[in-house]
Amino acid sequence: MTERPLAEARRVGLIGDPVAHSLSPALQQPAFDALGIAARYELWPTAALALPERVATLRAPEMLGANVTVPHKQAVLGLLDVVSEQARRAGAVNTIINRNGRLHGDNTDIAGFATALVAVCFDAKDREVLLLGAGGAARGVILALETLGVRQIAVTNRHHERARRLAAEVTPTQINVVASNEAELESALRQARLIVNATSLGWHAGETPLALSLLEYIPADALVVDLTYRDTDLLLAARARGLPTLDGLPMLIHQGARAFQLWTGQLPPLELMRDGVQQAWAARESAT
Ligand code: NDP
Repeated sequence: MTERPLAEARRVGLIGDPVAHSLSPALQQPAFDALGIAARYELWPTAALALPERVATLRAPEMLGANVTVPHKQAVLGLLDVVSEQARRAGAVNTIINRNGRLHGDNTDIAGFATALVAVCFDAKDREVLLLGAGGAARGVILALETLGVRQIAVTNRHHERARRLAAEVTPTQINVVASNEAELESALRQARLIVNATSLGWHAGETPLALSLLEYIPADALVVDLTYRDTDLLLAARARGLPTLDGLPMLIHQGARAFQLWTGQLPPLELMRDGVQQAWAARESAT
């Protein structure tokens, strides 16, 4: 196949601040290359004040769109022409698609989580869920679980009030806010057969959203999921107890695959995406 000249290549990239650490180029570029789509995945570090200007550049014909990450997932909503129902309910856009100069916003974290979960847990809707965290990712998890038929979720969060606000906003799912004292957590853990860490705790050794001693209360057939895409202390301790676990890497891959499909109309090669991201991750771990 003859390659198109670089001048004709389409562009897509990641808008955030910072973005240098991102695994998205390692996830997306191999998929474009494998399908013979002349497109470059770029990193677009963008300060808050520069966000409107950056988003406006996406209307150009060579732009496929963008991914959006911290801290702009909420702020971009007001800069787009169309926002999907799921992204509006999540209050966050992580994918922008340029459709003939009109910008569409979507949230592929929701489908990404649901797809990653059902691959290892076919009966999520029949499980008692305990969600740790009440931020943007936690909201996405609740919407994803809603698509799988889950109607009731226990949520615990460092700042109780934030969990209460979340509970009021994510209807129709019923949220039972669990206080973060040991007695309440013990009771919630004894019932939970799906535990999801959607806090930002876990990236560093020694960080855990839950005292690890509490894991003894979790039923033996419970699945422990962590949105962090590494072996967190929580996942290591759960596995040491013999519990099945799922880290955040499959979610990252599936949200990226859905974004790729929205930009190109084509299904990406998932295995290549997985290899790309795993290699980039291994290279980063060995460099630190
Ligand atoms: P937010 O900043 O919106 O929320 C952070 C959450 O972590 C809140 O619940 C917050 O509690 C809690 N938290 C932060 N610091 C502490 C602490 N010291 N002690 C207790 N709780 C704490 O972040 P997001 O929701 O956007 O992201 C959460 C995590 O999910 C991140 O690690 C992110 O990387 C990951 N993620 C993974 C994805 C994937 O594809 N695998 C996709 C999206 C996110 P409080 O409200 O009390 O401050």
